[in-house]
Amino acid sequence: MTNSRFKDTGERVYDFLFNHTLIECPHCMKCGKGIRKIEGKFGYILQCKRCGVLSDPMVGTWGIGTFMGLNLWLRTNCCSNLLWAYNKEHLDFMDNYINSSMRERIPYKNQSLASRLPDWIKSGKNRNELSKGIAKLRNKLEICE
Ligand SMILES: [Zn+2]
Repeated sequence: MTNSRFKDTGERVYDFLFNHTLIECPHCMKCGKGIRKIEGKFGYILQCKRCGVLSDPMVGTWGIGTFMGLNLWLRTNCCSNLLWAYNKEHLDFMDNYINSSMRERIPYKNQSLASRLPDWIKSGKNRNELSKGIAKLRNKLEICE
């Protein structure tokens, strides 16, 4: 355990979502990427390094551990729950949060990602298992890159 301080800078979940999201390609079951559309309205182009652009993601079926109806690449069972992350930045954020022994909170920022983390992640008693879960996701990240 480190003595680093966790600083809640008010980052919102969408700040992470809008960066590259790693998904599991439904064709080759390897790591693909969700890329934000430059033009147009809210929407994404999903792409796999091997299969190219995935033309027909199931837009609208959002759920825990999924992105546009596809499984996130970074997901693993942990503490009888599903631990997941959109991408490396999201994983780094949770790693920092979980492994910080001292937490700073900025008041009146209820939308911040830290305040939206589920209780089982915030719970100190799950810290050891969460650290193992984060390590598993880091291994998956290395396969992807
Ligand atoms: Zn693929």
